[in-house]
Amino acid sequence: MNSPITIGISACLFGKNTRYDGGHRHQPQLIEALRQFVTLLPLCPEVECGLGIPREPMRLEGDPEGPRLLTITSRRDLTAPMLAWAAQRLEAFAKEGLQGLILKSRSPSCGARVAVHGEGEAAFSPGLFVRACQERFPDLPIANEEELCDPARLAAFLKRVTDHK
Ligand code: SF4
Repeated sequence: MNSPITIGISACLFGKNTRYDGGHRHQPQLIEALRQFVTLLPLCPEVECGLGIPREPMRLEGDPEGPRLLTITSRRDLTAPMLAWAAQRLEAFAKEGLQGLILKSRSPSCGARVAVHGEGEAAFSPGLFVRACQERFPDLPIANEEELCDPARLAAFLKRVTDHK
């Protein structure tokens, strides 16, 4: 039986071929451990905001306090479609009672700490979707797959998720 506690997870970690190169970053051990306690809802911000598979790689650029999402070669600015999709999806999350998110590290959309390319010193920001999540739900437990390799951190995350109202 599915757990009534639902958390979102980057679709590529769940095993879906949603990455820009058509691949995935499946984390079978983590998925198996999580499924004992929660229902997992896979999502991919880049695919769901209308970008295809495969797609041109992108990165964050500009002001680290408000970076833009640009494709690296063709210089297409994807900031507006990503933020518009995120705003809509996060309202749906609010209605669905989502209790946590596990998002792929290092992605310009899903990563918690991503390089922002510019002319000055090295700078970092959350990916655009993570930033939107943090602004809409400041208390929502959010983790990435690298942190959750550690059993103690996984247990602590699950406790935060189950305590989250
Ligand atoms: S990291 Fe995020 S945006 Fe990239 S493929 Fe995975 S779910 Fe999609």
